[in-house]
Amino acid sequence: MEFNLEHIVRKNIWNLQPYSSARSEFDLYGSGKKELTLLDANENPKGDLNRYPDPMQSPIKQELAKQKEISKDQIFVGNGSDEAIDLLYRIFCEPGKDKVILCPPTYGMYAVSAAINDVEVLKIDLTERFELNIDAILEKISNCAENEQPKLLWICSPNNPTGNAPLKADLKHDWQAQNYTHGGMMDMPFAPAFEAEMLDNQRNLDKLFGAFNGIIVVDEAYQDFTENTSFINRLEDYPNLVVLQTMSKAHGLAGARVGFAFASPEIIELFNRTKPPYNVNELSQKAVLTALLQTEKKEREIKEIITNRDFLAEHLKSFDFINEVYPSEANFLLAQVENANEVYNYLRDNGVIIRNRSSQIKDTLRFTVGTRKECKEVIQALSAFKTN
Ligand SMILES: *Cc1c(COP(=O)(O)O)cnc(C)c1O
Repeated sequence: MEFNLEHIVRKNIWNLQPYSSARSEFDLYGSGKKELTLLDANENPKGDLNRYPDPMQSPIKQELAKQKEISKDQIFVGNGSDEAIDLLYRIFCEPGKDKVILCPPTYGMYAVSAAINDVEVLKIDLTERFELNIDAILEKISNCAENEQPKLLWICSPNNPTGNAPLKADLKHDWQAQNYTHGGMMDMPFAPAFEAEMLDNQRNLDKLFGAFNGIIVVDEAYQDFTENTSFINRLEDYPNLVVLQTMSKAHGLAGARVGFAFASPEIIELFNRTKPPYNVNELSQKAVLTALLQTEKKEREIKEIITNRDFLAEHLKSFDFINEVYPSEANFLLAQVENANEVYNYLRDNGVIIRNRSSQIKDTLRFTVGTRKECKEVIQALSAFKTN
């Protein structure tokens, strides 16, 4: 069935007349703004932060468009990804009527935002190896009547808290990129087994995106820590795809609260009309632009975190009360731990705060990868627990 945006958007949002400021009506943000006599917004004429910020975050979008090789009108900038998550519910889901699909164990905000917006949640668990259960999702969709189709499907990849990537955007591109960075040829032939896997992955993506009439959201908060191809590269192929990324993790700006949604210009227009006009403050916009331009610093910090991740994983595996450390494509490690609650409490009482995920996955703890010193502190605390 052909994807039809108008059919899945809430009527009130489709018909919404958005708030408009004089400056955005005449496109007065950006160049030349200082020479203008600005008497349109009841601001104080004096001060450093006296003006309202650019509602469309134009310089940020310009830089992002360049870096991601997409157009500015495919980008939404929000007050954290959390704002984008909430807006997706408000744009597409009728409170008390619509439903969405989540794939637990996953990020908690999808369910919290659903509850706030009074939207029903259907759960299709990840498989035992934390892969997406595509057949079960397709079956669930086909069991819903045509006028009761789920509006959103949430996929977090790399997934929080498991650390793996349950859905891959393009294995062929992954293969080529890896060959290239390791000095090989871009057009190196594929091993037959890999070729089958690659075709299988592509078939699964086509099946999933084709069968789902709603929006498939791929949350790539941890994309900077994996070599997998971003779903941003598939926006042209799938009109019902929304990709989320954030400044909170690899970019080190969790305190600035800035996240992004990438999608078709039609979907981004719906975000823009629904968001509060001045949703990203001036200080954060400046900080984001600065951080986006510091590409070398970011690459260096990511490399360091990945080295520390390997270091921490090796040490965690050496404790006999830690049964498994799951492979991670993110900046954290999930471990299966005997007496996880006891270990968690002991660490907390000794000033080391980690995340207890045992309520989601039996006996598991999640460790964020910090500096080398912080890794050593957690290892030392675990050693003390052991001899305690
Ligand atoms: C941390 C995280 C985010 C980031 O949210 P912000 O509001 O941008 O800080 C989004 N999704 C997942 C899965 C996360 O773990």
